[in-house]
Amino acid sequence: MKLLLVGEYREGRLLDTSAELFGFAAAIGGDASIFLVGSAEDVPAFSGALYLVDAGLYGEYNPEVHKQLLLKAVEEVNPDLIVFIHSSYGWDLAPRVAASLKVAQVSEVIGFADNAYEVGCCNAKMHRNVTPSTSKAVITIQAGAFPALQSEGTPLVKVLSTDVASTTEFLGYEPAEAKDVNLAKAEIVVSAGRGIGKKENIEVIRSLAKAFGGELGASRPVVDAGWIDHGHQVGSTGQTVAPKLYVACGISGSIQHLAGMKKSGFILAINKDKDAPIGEVADVLVVADVLQFVPALTAKLS
Ligand SMILES: Cc1cc2nc3c(=O)[nH]c(=O)nc-3n(C[C@H](O)[C@H](O)[C@H](O)COP(=O)(O)OP(=O)(O)OC[C@H]3O[C@@H](n4cnc5c(N)ncnc54)[C@H](O)[C@@H]3O)c2cc1C
Repeated sequence: MKLLLVGEYREGRLLDTSAELFGFAAAIGGDASIFLVGSAEDVPAFSGALYLVDAGLYGEYNPEVHKQLLLKAVEEVNPDLIVFIHSSYGWDLAPRVAASLKVAQVSEVIGFADNAYEVGCCNAKMHRNVTPSTSKAVITIQAGAFPALQSEGTPLVKVLSTDVASTTEFLGYEPAEAKDVNLAKAEIVVSAGRGIGKKENIEVIRSLAKAFGGELGASRPVVDAGWIDHGHQVGSTGQTVAPKLYVACGISGSIQHLAGMKKSGFILAINKDKDAPIGEVADVLVVADVLQFVPALTAKLS
């Protein structure tokens, strides 16, 4: 299978997520090339062809221009599969490319087996297997679903250019609103999941965070339910954290949550289900009712 991996470059820097594209390529097997709107100064180690567009000339993301440039690389590579990370870049550009090529698109792939892509459904509570009905396909892979692999070698760089005109213009990035909590810098994060049961129980988890001298985090359902502000959310649509200690209280361990915390130094999970997926990344899984265990731990620490 021929793969065209679409790397991402932002504000002069190749994003780390490129390594997950290599992880995906290794998992699926096949012959990979890369497409990148970036800079010759910062290309990944790689032993195949790299189709490079100078971001200095074409600027940061512009849907029409990037699509035309990518279609040029597609013409040259003739890939079976075009692979994006499911980032704001990927989810905007992938469907444009799929529509231009009139091929199937599968979003948020988390696995691959027997010629089918595994994707989440029902708010990621269930998985389904999808097989594209066209011989070529475009996919986006969920951040954190495939291991980050460093590739080796020196890429064979082929520079692409276009004279396509665009009706849109990239104006710049705006920093997100400053948050009252900075989970990214915290050494200890104690997070509340849906397993805490109700809004009032946030205080139980907050007390443990305080006793540890850490910050309070949360999974998305806790935020969606309005039990706590979005600034506390950890995960693919929240903050990415890498504290020395991460305590997951009543959190199942969905891929979207793990994407935001699995690089933590030590993970302590408290869950009444001994088979909860969080157990796969946790250093210690305490099988207990969070509302019994957490107050007891807080009392000990205090
Ligand atoms: C596009 C997209 C983006 C998303 N982004 C994020 C994100 O950024 N962050 C995020 O967290 N999620 C995100 N999600 C949602 C994600 O898929 C999961 O639904 C979510 O992470 C589940 O949260 P949870 O673990 O708190 O709840 P659940 O999956 O419902 O798990 C609750 C856990 O609590 C345990 N439990 C229940 N009662 C108790 C008790 N008394 N004591 C101990 N344990 C108990 C249960 O056994 C269970 O394991 C996203 C989903 C989508 C589709």
